[in-house]
Amino acid sequence: MAYTVLARKYRSQTFDDVIGQDPISRTLKNAIKTGRVAHAYLFAGTRGVGKTTMARVLAKSLNCLAFDAPTTEPCCRCDSCVAVNLGEDIDVIEIDGATNNGVEQVRELRQNAIYRAARCRFKIYIIDEVHMLSVPAFNALLKILEEPPSHVKFSLATTEPNKVIATIQSRCQRFDFSNIGPNLIAGQLKSILKQEKIKYEDDLILPLAKMANGSMRDGLSLLDRLISTGAEPLTAELLEEFLGSPNSEKIYNLIGEIGDSSAAGTFAAIEDLISTGLSEVQLVDSLIDYMRDLMVVKSAGAESELLILTAEQRKRTGQLAEKFDTAALIYNITALEKLRWAIKNSDTPRALLEALLLRFTLSEHFLNVDELLSQSQAGPIKKKQPTNVKSKASSEARETRDEGRGTNNEHGSKPEPVIEEQKQTKATPNRLKTRSQRKNEILNDPAVKTVLLGLDATITGIEEEK
Ligand SMILES: [Zn+2]
Repeated sequence: MAYTVLARKYRSQTFDDVIGQDPISRTLKNAIKTGRVAHAYLFAGTRGVGKTTMARVLAKSLNCLAFDAPTTEPCCRCDSCVAVNLGEDIDVIEIDGATNNGVEQVRELRQNAIYRAARCRFKIYIIDEVHMLSVPAFNALLKILEEPPSHVKFSLATTEPNKVIATIQSRCQRFDFSNIGPNLIAGQLKSILKQEKIKYEDDLILPLAKMANGSMRDGLSLLDRLISTGAEPLTAELLEEFLGSPNSEKIYNLIGEIGDSSAAGTFAAIEDLISTGLSEVQLVDSLIDYMRDLMVVKSAGAESELLILTAEQRKRTGQLAEKFDTAALIYNITALEKLRWAIKNSDTPRALLEALLLRFTLSEHFLNVDELLSQSQAGPIKKKQPTNVKSKASSEARETRDEGRGTNNEHGSKPEPVIEEQKQTKATPNRLKTRSQRKNEILNDPAVKTVLLGLDATITGIEEEK
């Protein structure tokens, strides 16, 4: 038997099945109960959130042959319901607006619409991607929407409602479909895996649900791809291997290096990620996601429900959050978002990415001009030491960090120089001191300051406040 994709096999059948769109289901059910079903609906929302599914459920409810009148619970077994499910019903006509966008098609639709439904109560037109219709086609559609025969209903679906002309919108009752939350998607993924009797590791589900980005269909097609690998149980590693989702351990490592102000470590961690085939843009996207989680930990605590993380990830995120303050995270996220656009149009995306991340490592706090100036006045500037970002240096830096663990709080606040001195004496004094000194030297160099501020203004567009 041919493999049926999960999105089709598990398409919701009734109003109560449609996931994540309860208010819309409720309103439509009420309309059916009270006999106030509109002539035309406009279903707006991103792809894979249930617009076409909802349109089909509505069509089944209006036309189900098991009842004498429209019902809120179609039988899903009668000829009409079964045909609608397959998208092949003679009275429920599905039109893809992207390919049938000409005026002729809509004129033909108008001519056919005047004839009564063949076997059911209503003739129902479901037009997908309705915003793709040409202007003459829109105008032709408008004519029938202005004076629809009483046996005709329309469900127009669109991912871009702003492109649907206002005169059409004003003839429709509009519903805006929300993106589906990762927890809801995760629940559905688990339920399907159970029904399919496929073994999986729990760690897989939330990252997979997050990758779906609010679209149930995307979530299910990602799951299709994982299942097609034939591997069992399905694991988080599989997700990284086959779907190119960045290795979370490596992202955590990179953020750790930034938090530890290790320039060499940051370069090594970037190389480590890019060498797995990750693009600069994907890396930036992941960093934004992970930094956002750190920001949530900082503001709402590690147990916040706003974090869609496994227990292990939650622990890890909580630890990393210690290395940053909220202002730095806000700055980092904003800067990364700006960088995203810059590197998309750049011939040297890697260098831009490295420049910005280096900038993060050089100042884990949001340094405004005043702070920078006061730092430049404090303490003597030592002679510059050679900075080596080759792998040897990075492994040294890693060693240093390992030895220095437990004293990481020095980066969490602005310590007095004396306290920092003491801490450094406790742990590996020489290396930590060297790194700390090196950082101060770099920060205090007027040329570097100019570069940092220039980076802020030009790469990210963030102006320092005076
Ligand atoms: Zn039925």
